[in-house]
Amino acid sequence: MAGPLRLLSIGAHPADVFDQCGGTLAHHVERGDQVSCAVLTHGARVHDAVISNSMYHRDVVPQGDELDELMVERADVKANEVREACAILGVTDVHFLGEDDQILLVDRESIRNVARLIRELRPHIVITHFPREGDGQTNAHAVAGQIVMHAISTAGSIDPEDSRPPHRVAQVFFFGEGAAHLRSGLAGAAGGFSMDVFVDITDVVEKKLATLDSMASQGYGGAYARKRIETSDGAMGMMGGACPYAEGFISSHPQIHRHLPVTEPMLEMSEQSDHELTYRGVYRVKVD
Ligand SMILES: [Zn+2]
Repeated sequence: MAGPLRLLSIGAHPADVFDQCGGTLAHHVERGDQVSCAVLTHGARVHDAVISNSMYHRDVVPQGDELDELMVERADVKANEVREACAILGVTDVHFLGEDDQILLVDRESIRNVARLIRELRPHIVITHFPREGDGQTNAHAVAGQIVMHAISTAGSIDPEDSRPPHRVAQVFFFGEGAAHLRSGLAGAAGGFSMDVFVDITDVVEKKLATLDSMASQGYGGAYARKRIETSDGAMGMMGGACPYAEGFISSHPQIHRHLPVTEPMLEMSEQSDHELTYRGVYRVKVD
């Protein structure tokens, strides 16, 4: 591989890229790779403490200009949280695609906007939602994954309104959390989609925690963030390879290697006893 990798992570909502792959992005930034984040929707309608939360307890929901102004104001608050979280990870390139989060659909305009971003940034790797997450139809993450997959395909050809040449993405990794089974070996993968790549994020888990703490408008900070990291990243670490915290992904394509691949942690674990393996994973983030 000549030179740094270019990665683009695309989430449906403002918090997605952080809770799904924040640790992995931190590692790539540390290695000197070019990391970009994109947020597809403003997230104010479904994930905001003021709009989506407080409206449940009102008799009447504001309409017209009043609601529009509130939406713009809250979308700005959420975008600033994303910028703050990116700064914690060392990500300086952030893109907001500004889709409404009420009804997210796979449509031409959304696809072309993401395709243009791909032609502009020319990522080797795209990280996004699994297109069959949940019911694969009304689930906003699934729809976002479908938009991105269409966009990857579209970016591979010319666009009369985009002077940049086509670009082909080398690999797509889908967020595993919420989308696929955890597997502990090949037999555990039977009968459905499963994560096949795990990134040990233990050394940057405090950074990831800080990004979730920045998502105050979404209520993701504090105890929720710690529970989320313990139950999801903790489970993936334990199942994926006896480490305290990991992020799991589903590879889009099988990969070609020159030799058979085996990673450093796998070699290290092959030399450890049962008890050593058991205690590899017990480090926990502090809840305060
Ligand atoms: Zn989301």
